[in-house]
Amino acid sequence: MDRAYLEIIFLCGFVLQVVLRSYYAQYYVTEKHPRYFNKKERLFLLFIFVGFQLLPILYVFSTWFSFFDYNLPKWLGFPSTMLYCFGIWLFFRAHSDLGKYWSPGLEIKENHQLITTGVFKWVRHPMYAAFVAIALAQVFMLQNWIVGPAFLILAIPFYMNRVRREERQLIRHFGDEYRVYVEETNALFPKIKQIDLSLIFARLKFSSKNKG
Ligand code: SAH
Repeated sequence: MDRAYLEIIFLCGFVLQVVLRSYYAQYYVTEKHPRYFNKKERLFLLFIFVGFQLLPILYVFSTWFSFFDYNLPKWLGFPSTMLYCFGIWLFFRAHSDLGKYWSPGLEIKENHQLITTGVFKWVRHPMYAAFVAIALAQVFMLQNWIVGPAFLILAIPFYMNRVRREERQLIRHFGDEYRVYVEETNALFPKIKQIDLSLIFARLKFSSKNKG
């Protein structure tokens, strides 16, 4: 796939992501919230803004970074677009599964319930997993040594810090309920045993019988 197409697809996904997030954020901004972003977290959020928003937009609409461009084989375009679409899908599934408990920072709301269903059944942090997928796809879609890996590199300190603090708060609030959830579910990548292989084999058998 041509790099120009990849840039257009990236931009469309970016716009979709901004529009849909604004939709979820409108419920959030109508509520009152304590100040929960410390200085470090604000700095990390700025890194994410630069890596995932500012640099890609500047890259697509200017030639400032073209000196640092690289060219990947065209066949990589399709799998990286799929990865990108998967990341955006996962991001919104996580939003809809978390519903009113979503917040941009760390917050325990009134009658906060632990969500372990939907995509939260597969991983504890589906939104952050979605960002990993999007950040990886960015490396292949925006083929530039500065802009391509920017999100991946700049987001790592944020997520390392965020997951630790978020889980500490969730354990404090939910206690053993969250500890059991941690034992059963991985943070970012699903456990193999959670994918029911027997079900997949049964389906394959069924379809090959039907063909025969
Ligand atoms: N880390 C999650 C959610 C990010 S939004 C993800 O990657 O999808 C951050 C808010 O979600 C925090 O205020 C936290 O209290 C809340 N949260 C995180 N996991 C949750 C869960 N399993 N159930 C309910 N709330 C959760």
